[in-house]
Amino acid sequence: MSIEADFARLARGNARRRTGFDLAARRQVLRLLSAAIRRREADIIAALADDLGKPEAETRLTEILPVQAEIRHALRHLKRWMRPCRVRPTLAMLGTSARIRMEPRGTVLIIAPWNYPFGLALGPLVSALAAGNAAVVKPSEMAPATSALVARILADLPGELVAAAEGGAETATALLELPFDHIFFTGSPEVGRVVMAAAARTLASVTLELGGKSPALVGPGADLARAARMIAYGKFANAGQTCVAPDHVYVPRVQMGPFLTALRARIRAMYGAEPKASASFGRIVNARHFARLTGLVDAARASGAEAEGASSDAEARYLAPTLLTGTTPAMEVSRQEIFGPVLPLIPYDSLDEVLARIETGPKPLAFYLFERDPGTIARLTAAVSAGAVGVNVTLAHYLHLNLPFGGIGQSGIGAAHGQWGFRAFSHEKPVLRDRFSLLPLLMPPYEGLSGRLARLVQRLLG
Ligand code: NAD
Repeated sequence: MSIEADFARLARGNARRRTGFDLAARRQVLRLLSAAIRRREADIIAALADDLGKPEAETRLTEILPVQAEIRHALRHLKRWMRPCRVRPTLAMLGTSARIRMEPRGTVLIIAPWNYPFGLALGPLVSALAAGNAAVVKPSEMAPATSALVARILADLPGELVAAAEGGAETATALLELPFDHIFFTGSPEVGRVVMAAAARTLASVTLELGGKSPALVGPGADLARAARMIAYGKFANAGQTCVAPDHVYVPRVQMGPFLTALRARIRAMYGAEPKASASFGRIVNARHFARLTGLVDAARASGAEAEGASSDAEARYLAPTLLTGTTPAMEVSRQEIFGPVLPLIPYDSLDEVLARIETGPKPLAFYLFERDPGTIARLTAAVSAGAVGVNVTLAHYLHLNLPFGGIGQSGIGAAHGQWGFRAFSHEKPVLRDRFSLLPLLMPPYEGLSGRLARLVQRLLG
């Protein structure tokens, strides 16, 4: 069926869903989705192994579990999220009553990337359905096995609520021609701009979950072993292809030696002496990204950087965990989002120097700080503008459903997860009811609006 026909079918139900898609019906659809995922766990694991060489444990922990957790969380809290919220009248509005109704936006479009191709297609869908919408989901063509599986799973859900649209940029472009009520896009800042420009044509609202270079900072008072453990995990999980992976790390110059030693030990502890043989280490998504990453490392080397690890196998799309030292800001690896298992370590002499460097770049999706001194933690968490801050931890804020997940500036617009995801897909509709307000006193003829009464009204409205 064509995407236009899918869209028309879903959009036809917009008005009906506003009144008829109640708590029980939404819960039922979420349970259906949960069961469809549970039934296909083995297929999901196989598809992600196919697309990204993703180890089973990583698929369970970072793809399946976050979606199931999102469903459980929504089932538990949806009643409260949906409840119209009463607000107190301001002085000027005495005599009225008001509440905010959470209204479904209508028919929404979800565009997903390839790096967590399952979780980032279905996680937002949970929020969209919880908020009472119908949704078209476009999974990433760069993870074809997962894309096909997502489409099969969605076929288990009611056709008047959900449709899958498989394909690449052409499919996405055709979808963006349609008058969706909201577009939830996860992907690169470059394509994010295209999506926002398309949304401007129909004035669809957008949530943009983008990427960028998220810095990690090993503070002067860091526990080096802990920093190495967390940074190595955050960087090399999914072979570095994680939007919130630490892109590069700033290390006090005097601690560079011990930190490198600690990092090497952690890499070995996680993946053994030969990561290629490890069942816990993933692969690069495709030949283009493999060539991009090895190109970044080769170019850095050619300009004087040193690379450790760096062994690769194009056939297997394998690139070893690679530590880069001696990079400069002019190198390409310092300019584009790395999005692979390559970690530049940058020495620094003062925190102000690091803050100044971070300030010159676009606002990152995450900032990771490793530090024990409470004063330094307080200062740096306030000073750095980022989508989120992790202190002595990497990645985990993604899994915390009571936290909004999203970027700022070039790393994104809006937020996802839990109640924030529900709100992204809802219109917060004020309903104001007049009982005995002052409004009649303000109506023409205005001649009556003089003297004492005028002063009283002005005071109340002011
Ligand atoms: P991408 O922007 O290349 O593609 C994302 C999606 O957009 C895909 O489904 C793709 O088919 C579609 N697309 C491609 N061209 C399009 C066009 N012209 N118009 C509309 N849609 C188009 O991103 P990617 O390579 O799949 O993912 C990597 C990027 O995503 C990285 O920058 C990463 O940091 C970011 N990311 C962000 C998050 C987050 O939650 N903030 C999560 C994962 C990835």
